[in-house]
Amino acid sequence: MKMSKLFVQTLREFPSDAEVISHKMLVRAGYIRKLTSGVYNYLPLMWRVLKKVENIVREEMDKAGAQELLMPFVQPKELWEESGRWEVYGKELMRLKDRHNREMCLGPTHEEIITSIARDGLKSYKQLPVNLYQIQSKFRDEVRPRFGLLRGREFIMKDAYSFDTSEEGLKKEYENMAKAYSRIFKRCGLNTKMVQSDSGAIGGSVSHEFMVITDTDAGENDVFYCDSCDYAANSNHAISNLPETDIVGKYEKAEIINTPNTHSIEELSDFLKIPSTIIVKTLVYIVDKKPVLALIRADKQVEETKLMNAVGGVDIRIATAGEIEEMMGANGFDAAKGFIGPNGLKEYNGYPVTVVADNTVKEMKNFVIGINQEDKHGVGYNWGSEVELPEVVTDIRLVEAGELCPQCGKPLKVTRGIEVGNIFQLGTKYSKPMNAVFTDIDGKTKPYVMGCYGIGISRTAAAAVEAHYDEFGIKWPLAIAPYHAIVIPVSTKDELQMKVANDIYVTLKKHGVEAVIDDRDERPGVKFKDAELIGFPYIITVGKSINEGLVEFKIRETNEKSQMKPEDAAEIVVTAVHNIK
Ligand code: ATP
Ligand code: MG
Repeated sequence: MKMSKLFVQTLREFPSDAEVISHKMLVRAGYIRKLTSGVYNYLPLMWRVLKKVENIVREEMDKAGAQELLMPFVQPKELWEESGRWEVYGKELMRLKDRHNREMCLGPTHEEIITSIARDGLKSYKQLPVNLYQIQSKFRDEVRPRFGLLRGREFIMKDAYSFDTSEEGLKKEYENMAKAYSRIFKRCGLNTKMVQSDSGAIGGSVSHEFMVITDTDAGENDVFYCDSCDYAANSNHAISNLPETDIVGKYEKAEIINTPNTHSIEELSDFLKIPSTIIVKTLVYIVDKKPVLALIRADKQVEETKLMNAVGGVDIRIATAGEIEEMMGANGFDAAKGFIGPNGLKEYNGYPVTVVADNTVKEMKNFVIGINQEDKHGVGYNWGSEVELPEVVTDIRLVEAGELCPQCGKPLKVTRGIEVGNIFQLGTKYSKPMNAVFTDIDGKTKPYVMGCYGIGISRTAAAAVEAHYDEFGIKWPLAIAPYHAIVIPVSTKDELQMKVANDIYVTLKKHGVEAVIDDRDERPGVKFKDAELIGFPYIITVGKSINEGLVEFKIRETNEKSQMKPEDAAEIVVTAVHNIK
């Protein structure tokens, strides 16, 4: 490809609306252009990268025994009603109507469609197991589309679905997919960590995410991990053991005392001269329109996904002061100031208040707790006497770094991660409600035992930029680079330079290297800047030293430069490209 013909416009500056590196770089280097919020044009360079990621995914999925198909992007409401998700999926599901007023949606994921395909075709245990996958655009009306391709509304995903006769079969396929995923990300030049995670709206019980570890804002997940063993989990699923601490208050009797101006836990523990570990904190949430109280030891934080799961919800947010006051009824109380407690909050939106306690409060004694009266607290309270222990006592706590690993007891560490893929053991979550069954060896009809396995193709490409860049631009891993190498004649007017550059270019192409020659009549500085910004893995510059028979060879990953003969430079690139797999 001649640079003069390549469809690419690099920009002098980073776009002002971009927050993270991959978004900045991909726009500036001419890979993507925004069409509308969260929706991007993939320009020729980007499309080449995406196809390479797709092909790696395709090769490894095929090798792992999965079969590719393609399902429609538009889906009918009826199937979503069968699974029960039309109601619960929420606003991320983009719903629309056709000219006959039939309701449809843009596929955010394809469990319903694949389950309907399976139930039409897979009738006997003899046909199982099967793993089917596609590489397709998805649409999710994300609340906060941001970070360019990392969180778009329209994006490309590989989604696979497995059908087995038994749990054991599913577990085996799950392992098989986990191994394929490790190979895929490694081939894309990414180091990933496989971490335990919450199963969210897709459901099921066991799931893992593949995270690209990063210390930047692009990592939207916190990952807790242990250096001493293999424990690693998303914060929405991580658990920990807590060191022993003081959880018994020194109060001799239960009473209500004045605690003026103690609007925060810190103010309260300062005022009472007690550790926060003997205070029970009450937080008020709205989960799917219903009021939910969370009780937790005051030195700890609530993990909202865990709380939401504890009450079987799909959407959670903290309640406003006004909403809490409504729950109080006629008592009149300025909830914004604190002092909230579990006793006396009745209902909201016509739903009774559900109270969930974290495990940390169970063993607390003679504790301090809000009683829904301004400037007052209950002290020396105990479960079962002054206040009831809620029916639901479970883990709703956000883990903190330094707490102890649930597997080996060593202190946990935290880092951020970009989720590039995930795998779920769905079980019969879709096959049962959708009556997707087969006849087993014993003659009985049973629902398939399913798994699903996603990889964000466009997110993976962006994550590769997050992991490989410097101040000058992108440093594509060779296997997913849009082109492997660029040959730059410093002066297009110099006949010898042009001839050698052209020879190298032709040799590279002949040996299967995807090469670009920068034939533009531009200043050398402009050519070098573009080559670095776009991120060609190898940059071969033919300048004055060609008079001594030498070219400059630069490896973009390390920015290492050396002088060598043209044929040696070509040979290094050809060998590297042949060794890609
Ligand atoms: P997230 O928690 O980041 O929203 P998710 O749990 O909703 O992800 P899945 O539904 O499991 O993701 O989708 C499978 C894969 O698709 C993810 O691992 C991710 O790589 C990719 N993906 C999900 N949402 C987006 C998005 N908005 N933009 C780009 N890729 C996405
Ligand atoms: Mg999501």
